[in-house]
Amino acid sequence: MSQNISNTYNDGFDNQKDENVPSKFSIGKVVCVGRNYAAHAAELGNEVPSRPILFIKPASCVINNDQPIASHVIDMPRDTVYKVHYEAELCVRIGQPLKCATVEEVKACIGLIDGVTLGLDLTLRDLQSELKDKGHPWERAKCFDGSCVLAEWVAPDVYGDFSAVNYQLYINDKLTQDGKTEWMLFPLYDLLSEISYTFSLQPGDVIMTGTPSGVGVLNAGDNLTLKLGEHHWQSKVI
Ligand code: ZN
Repeated sequence: MSQNISNTYNDGFDNQKDENVPSKFSIGKVVCVGRNYAAHAAELGNEVPSRPILFIKPASCVINNDQPIASHVIDMPRDTVYKVHYEAELCVRIGQPLKCATVEEVKACIGLIDGVTLGLDLTLRDLQSELKDKGHPWERAKCFDGSCVLAEWVAPDVYGDFSAVNYQLYINDKLTQDGKTEWMLFPLYDLLSEISYTFSLQPGDVIMTGTPSGVGVLNAGDNLTLKLGEHHWQSKVI
């Protein structure tokens, strides 16, 4: 498959650059949340879950804009017939160890959330459906190299308890995904608590908090813009 994405950070759009926080940690595991927005569950014909649906992408999936521009090319699977779908998601980076923590303990953990950004959870949707139908794991559809595209980390301070964060994905200047964390079925602190009972979290781990509705296929030549408040990041599918 020749579909690649190169991500270029656009200084011209970002007037809050001094808030960007550099990587203090190497990326650990990426804990992803499935169906955290009811409208997205509905668009794929899935039921709304009673507990968060969790899966993990290994660090080998991650393309991060903190890296030099030359490395911002997603290494798509080369021998697949499946189309690549995008899912834009709010992402946080973990700054403190967390294990078996209640929601109150999550709220009280200073420095737990070390950075915030937007990311793309790239998915071979048709393959994922085939694997789900067979009762097989999803990794072949979700964990290929380059399947986790992260923009630059920014300081978390202005986002409060993350209950009122808005973010958008534009494709070719058309609003394609509009995310509001108030729509999350499981808010961030609840997620972090729930996750911590299954996977101990370590500094450098990343949480992808689930995608709002509007997912679809990436096509060669698409121009993507991720917007998180004053922060804008651009990518191009090549
Ligand atoms: Zn996702």
